[in-house]
Amino acid sequence: MDMPMKSEIEKALARDGLAFPPLLETSYELETRPRRVKRIRVGMVRLAVVYNLFLIPDWILVPDLFPVSIALHLLVVTPWIFLTGWLTTEETSKWRREGLAATLPIVIVLQILVSFVFTKAPDAAHYQYFVLLVVLYTNTIQRLPFRLAVLTSGIIVGLHTIAVGLAGHMSAATSAVAVTTLAASAYLTLTSAYYLELDRRRGFLHVLRDRLLHTDTENASKHDPLTGLANRRYLDQRLQQLWDQAGSTMTIGIAMIDVDWFKLYNDRYGHVAGDTALKRVASCVQSELRGDDDLAVRFGGEEILVLLPAISQADATRFAERLRREIEGLRIPHEALGPTKVVSVSIGFAVGSTASASSGQLIDAADRALYEAKQNGRNAIWPPLLRTQPARATRRKG
Ligand code: GH3
Ligand code: MG
Ligand code: MG
Repeated sequence: MDMPMKSEIEKALARDGLAFPPLLETSYELETRPRRVKRIRVGMVRLAVVYNLFLIPDWILVPDLFPVSIALHLLVVTPWIFLTGWLTTEETSKWRREGLAATLPIVIVLQILVSFVFTKAPDAAHYQYFVLLVVLYTNTIQRLPFRLAVLTSGIIVGLHTIAVGLAGHMSAATSAVAVTTLAASAYLTLTSAYYLELDRRRGFLHVLRDRLLHTDTENASKHDPLTGLANRRYLDQRLQQLWDQAGSTMTIGIAMIDVDWFKLYNDRYGHVAGDTALKRVASCVQSELRGDDDLAVRFGGEEILVLLPAISQADATRFAERLRREIEGLRIPHEALGPTKVVSVSIGFAVGSTASASSGQLIDAADRALYEAKQNGRNAIWPPLLRTQPARATRRKG
């Protein structure tokens, strides 16, 4: 994750609201989606069972419409519940998924209110209170996104108010009590839904921040701050791993790279410019690695070690020569050596099998090769390119 994400997290934490900026919203959705989808699908089964248990009170309270009730339960609402569950997958977009989920309480409320409006049963007045249960379900168990929960609750309260008015089973006073009780319940449960969602979202931000912090700490413990290359501690871990791979022997190359005449460079351009030049050399080395298994390490001041697992002598030679040329090709002026001179490196490398040499022996061998490259006039690799390989100079005057 990149830096803007970090500041976005801090900003979102400071703002203390439900809205996230788009990037964070996307990661929140991605992170919570699998559980949400599972929850909806399992919830559908539970809802279907509990909802159909209400056929018993239907039979008691509105017996004249019981056949209608059965038909609505079993032929309309229950299939709709299962269809919604079936249409909810991890591929479903967020708003389609939540929108589908929000249709359920509305469809259930419509079923209740249809029976309520048309029944002639003496106890009908009590039947509309089931709408209250649906509101409780919607705002506590169903966990719709808050804005959608507000909309759904608003629709339910509206439908209920109309139905109470149309039905005429209750006196004006009882109707007012029924409508206000429902509206108040919606308000209270929505308030709780708001704080629950706020807590979930803030919890997510904290987890994300901790994760970033952990990654940062881990990165810092493995990398050199100036060049961004791996540090020696990390190199030691990797060497240990390579040599520990029980039963497998591997040919490993180690290249030791040292900037030529770097003291003079610092003397001429100053330490800050020296740092900049070193960073450019380091990133050039990093960009020349063959893949994720290669590792570039800041080994000492201006010395870089490259670990090259599973490499042949010929490939190691080609790698070293390519690197030498690329760094020379950066054309970083080094006028302390002459008006047209540029920064160059000398590279010594050694290739050996994990079975026959220790990592320390291989590093020593690469170090000795580096000494040879320096002796050979600098801006050079050692051992040099073989004559059988495409004829290229192993050393150029920089
Ligand atoms: P050569 O390797 O070609 O023999 O000559 P050199 O002048 O490069 O000699 P050596 O490798 O022994 O010197 C290393 C110098 O690199 C010493 C120090 O001034 C410089 N150096 C080491 N680390 C850093 C660094 O992080 N920043 C800067 N600016 N200079 C560094
Ligand atoms: Mg040097
Ligand atoms: Mg040195």
